[in-house]
Amino acid sequence: MFDNSDRTEISAMGEFGLIQHLAQHFEIRNGKTVKGIGDDAAVVDHGDHYGLITTDLLMEGVHFDLSFHPLKHLGYKAITVAVSDIYAMNGMAEQVLVGIGLSNRFSLEAVEELYAGMQIACEQLGVDLVGGDTTTSRNGLVISVTATGRVDKDKIVYRGGAQAGDLLVVSGDLGGAYMGLQILEREKRVFMEVPNMQPDLEQYDYIVGRQLKAEARKDVIELLKMLDVKPSSLMDVSDGVASELYHMGKASGVGFHVYEEKLPIDPQTIDTALSFDLNPSIVALNGGEDYELLFTVAQSDYEKIKTMPDFTVIGYATDVTSKNMLLTKSGNQFEIKAQGWPESQKE
Ligand code: ADP
Ligand code: MG
Repeated sequence: MFDNSDRTEISAMGEFGLIQHLAQHFEIRNGKTVKGIGDDAAVVDHGDHYGLITTDLLMEGVHFDLSFHPLKHLGYKAITVAVSDIYAMNGMAEQVLVGIGLSNRFSLEAVEELYAGMQIACEQLGVDLVGGDTTTSRNGLVISVTATGRVDKDKIVYRGGAQAGDLLVVSGDLGGAYMGLQILEREKRVFMEVPNMQPDLEQYDYIVGRQLKAEARKDVIELLKMLDVKPSSLMDVSDGVASELYHMGKASGVGFHVYEEKLPIDPQTIDTALSFDLNPSIVALNGGEDYELLFTVAQSDYEKIKTMPDFTVIGYATDVTSKNMLLTKSGNQFEIKAQGWPESQKE
């Protein structure tokens, strides 16, 4: 299948190159598999509707740090980040399966905390935990969540449907989860040096919450339905807008122009970014884990979405494939480069 005579560093290929390379030998054999690798979730023909399946893996030390991530929040986040990919297909989530790898460091009470968080997320999102797998881990906690869902056939939205001229819209605000992580890591460093010092996180409550307890935007899918708006393309923002724009543009055969002044950024994110000497717009474009929804709509839908406080039109699609430009407040233009894995490891 593969020519394995050389040694190739995975870091030279990047995450997406690796997935593409591995996927090329797996053809679709079942007529019911409508969409395999390449979108937020796989799509299966269930007769009168499409089924959706997606999986996410969270590794201790890579995706979370237990010295500041409470287990209850982590359980909550593990469910929401998996289910977010179902919403990213314009679908509704139905079931989750949870695999965990536990070391003997964990007591029953600790695992109960983790599952208490999962239970809250399942309840809020209306999904059923229907199975999973439990195993021993020698190297930290591992959490794998597979989510399933459904969508009416005429309502499914892929990454690849954006047309030149479509408006680019994002829900909520951007960059908060990244700055929350910077705060938590800074407080951890301070604590290691001066153990008696208690961190004061109150003034960072919003961004810390964005990092520790991500929300999946089920409400956005419901709102789009109520407004009778079907996006032309749709993704969730897990790796950062810059990276998602790259994927959306490549899949759709378009590029994007993004207006810096339109980027929705919470004041707490802005203040914190500035105190770290970071440009808030760069943080908003590249920071991951916001789990907002990024989508395009036809210009004719503008009237329907324009008064929605949670939606911001941040730009529009152009016909220059994969060329994404930031139009700055000062009137300059910069190409938006997707950073992506392995540097950030935030897939
Ligand atoms: P997302 O950020 O939306 O979770 P990813 O970037 O993780 O999506 O994955 C992109 C696509 O590649 C998805 O269709 C996913 O199912 C697929 N994929 C990721 N990792 C693997 C893998 N190891 N083997 C096969 N497919 C994979
Ligand atoms: Mg996704």
